Amino acid sequence: MAQAPQDSRDLTDRFIQFYRKYYSDEIGTLAQQYPNEKRSLYVDYDDLYAFDTELAEDYRKKPDQIREYAEEALRLYDLPVDIKLGRAHVRLMNLPETVDIRGIRVHDDHIGRMIAVQGIVRKATDVRPKITEAAFECQRCGTMTYIPQADSGFQEPHECQGCERQGPFHVDFDQSEFVDAQKVRVQESPEGLRGGETPQSIDIDLEDDVTGRVTAGDHVMVTGVLHIEQQTSGNEKTPIFDLYMDGVSVEIEDEEFEDMDITDEDVAKIVDLSNDPDIYEQMVASVAPSIYGYDQEKLAMILQLFSGVTKHLPDGSRIRGDLHMLLIGDPGTGKSAMLQYIRNIAPRSVYTSGKGSSSAGLTAAAVRDDFGDGQQWTLEAGALVLADKGIAAVDELDKMRSEDRSAMHEALEQQSISVSKAGINATLKSRCSLLGAANPKYGRFDQYEPIGEQIDLEPALISRFDLIFTVTDNPDPETDAELADHIINTNYAGELHTQKSKIPSSEFTDGEVEDATEEVTPAIDAELLRKYIAYAKRNCYPTMTEEAKEVIRDFYVNFRAKGAADDAPVPVTARKLEALVRLSEASARLRLSDKVEHQDAVRVTDIVESCLRDIGMDPETGEFDADIVETGTSKNQRDRIKDLKHLIEELEDEYEEGAPVEEVIKRAGSDLGLDETKAEDEIENLRRKGEVYEPRQNYLRTT
Ligand SMILES: [Zn+2]
Repeated sequence: MAQAPQDSRDLTDRFIQFYRKYYSDEIGTLAQQYPNEKRSLYVDYDDLYAFDTELAEDYRKKPDQIREYAEEALRLYDLPVDIKLGRAHVRLMNLPETVDIRGIRVHDDHIGRMIAVQGIVRKATDVRPKITEAAFECQRCGTMTYIPQADSGFQEPHECQGCERQGPFHVDFDQSEFVDAQKVRVQESPEGLRGGETPQSIDIDLEDDVTGRVTAGDHVMVTGVLHIEQQTSGNEKTPIFDLYMDGVSVEIEDEEFEDMDITDEDVAKIVDLSNDPDIYEQMVASVAPSIYGYDQEKLAMILQLFSGVTKHLPDGSRIRGDLHMLLIGDPGTGKSAMLQYIRNIAPRSVYTSGKGSSSAGLTAAAVRDDFGDGQQWTLEAGALVLADKGIAAVDELDKMRSEDRSAMHEALEQQSISVSKAGINATLKSRCSLLGAANPKYGRFDQYEPIGEQIDLEPALISRFDLIFTVTDNPDPETDAELADHIINTNYAGELHTQKSKIPSSEFTDGEVEDATEEVTPAIDAELLRKYIAYAKRNCYPTMTEEAKEVIRDFYVNFRAKGAADDAPVPVTARKLEALVRLSEASARLRLSDKVEHQDAVRVTDIVESCLRDIGMDPETGEFDADIVETGTSKNQRDRIKDLKHLIEELEDEYEEGAPVEEVIKRAGSDLGLDETKAEDEIENLRRKGEVYEPRQNYLRTT
């Protein structure tokens, strides 16, 4: 810098003046803690702007050059202690505006500038040393040649600086310089997306003291310098470039951050709506109006959007307020459409399929891929992490990967996901509500089998759901006629609306179009509903009234009592109690009430009872049976399986070759009252479970 031109000297002096005025304390602290605890001076853009508008703007336009002066000024600064801030960084933060990741464009002159982006960390590599200057020792003469290393590839010397021969060289790591390096991929936040856009992302290189601070799933604001890098195809360069950022500073955003402006006018509308006696009906009518019926499912989905209150107990434990809901149904019943609709009205949501669209699937994964420089372990957040503080709508949940199945229990109950693999140990937050849809095990429901046995998800996972709805497609002339009318009218409304907008001379009047479309127009439009939900979640923390407590307690006790007589199965487990509490809190939130009242408790016990009736009832006995939900097998059936196995054991003793199948079926009929089909089914069940086998055809042995 000795021969630096006059204006650069000026710039360095200008920064020294700026530091004296605004940052002398911070620099003092930095000097005391340098280099082990602190290696950066964080400069707030507002301070620099207040000090020198032009300098601040120049810093954003030419960040790489101006930073050199800012850091030189730091090295020249008079320090209270005798220490040199040789390699301290100056990190600018808090830029006045952020750029949408999808909005980064060449013609906007973003390239080479300092910008700030906001989003969620989708992927993060582990932190690894990266060589910045390699020291090559000549094996012939011993001279050291130092080669600065760029971001891509590894540069070796053309010739030795001593003997001018081409080596061979040996890299001396002690004499080389390394820096901690990490790469992260930041994706647009779910709440910033509208109408199902695919989220865009940008990769960010981090170095030194800003590495290792963020992990997959964190909401961040990153300030950095935007660069471009030429894409290659094999060894060929292509005319297309990729964008990436050199990260300057990274701030983890407040978790409650919601990018939603709710104006005073909005609040007035919301409060007004909440006082409407028909608010529950209006809300239901606002969910997927083109899908006929399913009012109870729609109400439950609305309650899920509002969610219960997350409770923190004095001992530090936490009870989740998020509701998990599962729709299991015959194909063609509109499950997917309902899920998609929820995505449109949830303030923060992620929509995916059980198969997942990335290697992280639904939960999270540590993967070794070429996301970083070379093969490196990367932690990637899946749908439930990306939906933290929101809703994850997962279609085809039954098709999820086996890795997800095991991680799901923790994700749903503790609302976190632990990843421990290849030195990566991380716990990611997944405080979201899961709205899942699944098909019955054999594609379609069999009305003669308990529904609990027709769900292709393990019982322990099923029991994590607060509500399970079964959507069956059974012919019924009356409802079929209504459904047909609804679909025809919906399409007719669409035809009128389209014709009117395409052909101005259409014979239909505005009034006619309006009449036809009224039925399929949501009662509350999606934009307002989204704000309503965000407002309620931010401002309402209802508590239970005595009346509400009593309704829920009685419901539980009565249901249990039905199962208490004789040897009847236990109908409902305590897990359902917490579900009832969560649902009734959501019901109170829906009308912006800070009290959970009698009506809330009644509303939700009705929903829970009808869900249990659908799923927890043993079609053979007509009794409620929690075992069907919690273990996948009804008590009645478990008894039957035990009896049948016992019978086979007895027959085994009588026949040398094993129990003849024909005889087993005959005795199952006479001794156990099982008809032939049932007996065959149960034998097949035993065989599948490995409890019996066929030593030869048509003979059985127990294991
Ligand atoms: Zn040499």
